[in-house]
Amino acid sequence: MTRPLLMIPGPIEFTDEVMMEMGRPTYSHVDPAFIAIFSQALRDLRAVFLADDDHQPFILAGSGTLAMDSAAANLVEPGDRVLVVNTGYFSLRMADICRRYGAQVDAIDAAPGETVSADQVAAALQQGDYAIVTITHVDTSTGVLTDVKGMARAAKEAGALTIVDGVCAAAAEEMRQSEWGVDVYLTASQKAIGVPPGLALLVASPAAMEKWRGRSTPVGSYYADWNQWLPIMEAYEGRRAAYFATPAVNLVMALAVSLRQILDEGMDAVFARHRGLSDAVKAGIQALGLAQVPSAYEHAAHTLTCPRYPDGVDASFLAHVRAHGAILAGGLYPSIKSEYFRIGHMGAVGRGDVLATLGAVEAGLRAAGYAIEPGVALAAAQAVMDA
Ligand code: PMP
Repeated sequence: MTRPLLMIPGPIEFTDEVMMEMGRPTYSHVDPAFIAIFSQALRDLRAVFLADDDHQPFILAGSGTLAMDSAAANLVEPGDRVLVVNTGYFSLRMADICRRYGAQVDAIDAAPGETVSADQVAAALQQGDYAIVTITHVDTSTGVLTDVKGMARAAKEAGALTIVDGVCAAAAEEMRQSEWGVDVYLTASQKAIGVPPGLALLVASPAAMEKWRGRSTPVGSYYADWNQWLPIMEAYEGRRAAYFATPAVNLVMALAVSLRQILDEGMDAVFARHRGLSDAVKAGIQALGLAQVPSAYEHAAHTLTCPRYPDGVDASFLAHVRAHGAILAGGLYPSIKSEYFRIGHMGAVGRGDVLATLGAVEAGLRAAGYAIEPGVALAAAQAVMDA
């Protein structure tokens, strides 16, 4: 293949079946065939999030930031106290969005590469009457994974709702929305969900819908307002046409195919595959002598790896990696941006993609003047995958 593999933390490589949907003739958004597809996609989104039938899914045209905006616009009322678990760039974005809707925001800040514990969240919740806790499941800027299960439990005990940004985690990291009591789990199409960019996806719990229904102030966003969208989602799921704003028809068709592929693999198998491939990539990176941004394996994400550049190597090495077959991403967290790069490994990735990518990293490092023994990362990754 002459086209380099797209191994950034989103967008990612998509399956052929998903890409075929993007090229098919566009249905009318009220065509019975499209209504059936949309209905299935809504039900399958719930299934992928392991959410019960009493949870409300939303599929909106927009990116992940719209999913964040939609959760905050509908759940935050002016004066609400919001506790932000800050593990990086995208946690801070959520704090900004909540402030925009009038929240009084406090944050628990983790240094880059560190995480926040559920105990820290429980202790902070004792200090104030918080309405909402926001959590970034995987912060794409640092590769840090948070303990969503423990934090959701702490929030529930304190009577606060949880909004979890799963943009870099959904359909890859373990997440059981109903069992864990996550009130809003949100993501975007272009990462492990496996569909080109353009869809914002959310699933809301009955408690979240109740807070929204009980609002005393109108929702401050016209497009994101669930008053506009709830009747539409209910209609499509019930196989009736309804219109508020034109759905992204081909993206919804592609989503329906991708969610089916994920469910056919099975959620436990999907979680285990991501863990296994991540372990292989991380073993390969370690074998090259490169450190990683997350300070401990226990809170490193399984959707991406964030290696630090070795001495004498900088971001210009990414062009060499690309020339050898893999497109990777540079750093993102502002204070350490120039010190690391990011390898995405989520969605329909397999063993071959991991080996091709590590091979390109090895070749790129050699081209950048860093002496390594050829094959050392590949051998380490293969040893993990064969174990
Ligand atoms: N949250 C996280 C964790 C992300 O990784 C991203 C995108 N990289 C976003 C939110 C924002 O999503 P989008 O770029 O699709 O608006």
